[in-house]
Amino acid sequence: MRHNDLRLTYLFHKVNDAYFEGQKKIKGIFWAEENVINETRHPRKQLWAQCLVDWRGIRIHRCLKNKAPDYVLKHLIHHELLHLHLDYHTQRFIILERKFRQYKKADLWLDRHVHLLRQAR
Ligand SMILES: [Zn+2]
Repeated sequence: MRHNDLRLTYLFHKVNDAYFEGQKKIKGIFWAEENVINETRHPRKQLWAQCLVDWRGIRIHRCLKNKAPDYVLKHLIHHELLHLHLDYHTQRFIILERKFRQYKKADLWLDRHVHLLRQAR
């Protein structure tokens, strides 16, 4: 059984309220148990997190658990919540993604911490 994480659940609600008027519904959000999330759809981003559309859940790579600040996790949650209704990184998706207020800062943080993913392999 997947265990919903308290901190991630809290951050999900913050993002849902701030950007989606509390309308996004998910069944769960948790740290990925696997070392590496395999997803070919959009390789770079999906290494950090994944939206499980059929199950309506979000998983976030566990290498971020004790490292990433809240704004980085919120950026990933915001991104994955967009995927509940938008499959691909279309122009529209990118415009919506950048509505996240700390988008640039969060994206930069992830770029600077790619080693966390490599170490977790
Ligand atoms: Zn994506």
